[in-house]
Amino acid sequence: MRPVVEQAVGRLGRRSAIVRVGNGNHALRQARGLSVAPLQDTQLESLVAGLRGAVGAQRWGVWFDGATDFHVAEDGLTVGVANLFISDYLKSHFADHLAAACLKVFGRALPVTYHVQPDLFQRRRAENLAGEAEAMERLGVAVPPAPKPRPPRPAPESRPLFTLENFVTGPCNQMGYAAAVSAATAPGRDFHPLFIHGGCGLGKTHLLQGILYALRRRGGLEAACLSAEQFTNQYIGAMKSGSLDVFRYRYRRMDVLAIDDIHFLSGKPGTQEEFLHTFNEFGGQGRLVILASDSAPREIEAIQDRLVSRFVAGLVVKLLPPDTDTRRRILEAKAVQMARPLPPDVLALVADRVKGSVRDLEGALTRLIAFSALLKQPVTPELARQSLADFAITAPRQTGLGEIEETASAFFGVTVTDIHSARKSQPISLARQVTMVLARELTALSFADIGRHMGGKNHTTVLAACKKWQTMVRSGAEVRWSDRTDRRTMTAEALLAHLRERIRR
Ligand code: ADP
Ligand code: MG
Repeated sequence: MRPVVEQAVGRLGRRSAIVRVGNGNHALRQARGLSVAPLQDTQLESLVAGLRGAVGAQRWGVWFDGATDFHVAEDGLTVGVANLFISDYLKSHFADHLAAACLKVFGRALPVTYHVQPDLFQRRRAENLAGEAEAMERLGVAVPPAPKPRPPRPAPESRPLFTLENFVTGPCNQMGYAAAVSAATAPGRDFHPLFIHGGCGLGKTHLLQGILYALRRRGGLEAACLSAEQFTNQYIGAMKSGSLDVFRYRYRRMDVLAIDDIHFLSGKPGTQEEFLHTFNEFGGQGRLVILASDSAPREIEAIQDRLVSRFVAGLVVKLLPPDTDTRRRILEAKAVQMARPLPPDVLALVADRVKGSVRDLEGALTRLIAFSALLKQPVTPELARQSLADFAITAPRQTGLGEIEETASAFFGVTVTDIHSARKSQPISLARQVTMVLARELTALSFADIGRHMGGKNHTTVLAACKKWQTMVRSGAEVRWSDRTDRRTMTAEALLAHLRERIRR
């Protein structure tokens, strides 16, 4: 399979026409001999001609000539490129030109996929080597034998482009979106840092990438986005290789630094210290740190207070799961991006049934489209029901805090009111603690939400219970208590596993 650099959501169908952007003046060398529908062939020619006109001869010569191939398939356009650098450049500089050309020729936007094409890669490499050899000969330097061309590196995992334009807003994420737009327009003007938190699959990474994309497209500012895990690994690598200066310079000179999944720094004091120093270099007009995390700043476990106090000094925004109407609009937008617009009744049905994160919605949509393609049936509410029936079985079941409290109190022979009270007798406090631990594990609720719900307890109480049980599980500690009939003993781990099992039933 050829390496795919970036894939618009959805698969391209049968390839139907190709135009190779050739050398020299003849930009439109058409790949003859293919069984192509004449109409599509001419459309593709018009597309390439239009694009060439819009881009201008000089840039065309540098970026397209001999370096790209255009293929049109039933439901999208693919662009073969000589290497990743070229595809990145095309995406960041000519995406709008390409979209406009598609609209003009095909009357609609087409999903565009880039992939490294081995023959283009080899040709570009051979040209570069020939150019180098010629220059060396002119200078009288001995020319080393040309190395064998290596096959292209496999491209990184494909993913759709995350932009602010394709982020759908609703009451659940309006504040996060507004903050992202401000960060992308005037970084550091309104706040520093920006801290975005929320459950899994709610759009944190999308917003971070969207800000970076907008900043890069506009140019003028240096911006970088990496995960806290990458930051950690690079820091450790730099320490080992004695190149800390290079590592520090790389990020501290940035205007905007975005770190995704910052909760990853939990329990890593060395990297936290390093990040604190990096952070301290930022602030003020044009300089901004953006962070994304699955918990609120004060709820990240095992993280220095000095970092937490810096995180909360700027703007902290929470992304919530989307409501029904937003879910419907997200589905509508994603379906259009996949070039598979869906009828309103199907959109409403899916939005009503799939209540989880945006990632869950994407999963349901992909499944529905695959169902329709495999069964060769149009997308109707009935087909949607079928595909979702299956989806509901595979999707993780949402567990409520109420369910957890009831299971824990029944197990310890106490009541839910006991759990909410301040009473400290042994089975009650055990039931309260395991409820907190399992609520954190099985629901998307924050420490503060759990505490609030459980009789107005402070988030630190919940945090302390979770930490205590984590240690108990790790050390194989036993829990002892007496219920109405007997004295009981179980390891912390077995006790939690038993309750989890009961909750799932
Ligand atoms: P997180 O980082 O919060 O776990 P992601 O940013 O990776 O979540 O989002 C998961 C998926 O959902 C991505 O494909 C993203 O494009 C999509 N997504 C999330 N929120 C939105 C939104 N508001 N509009 C459009 N797509 C969204
Ligand atoms: Mg993410």
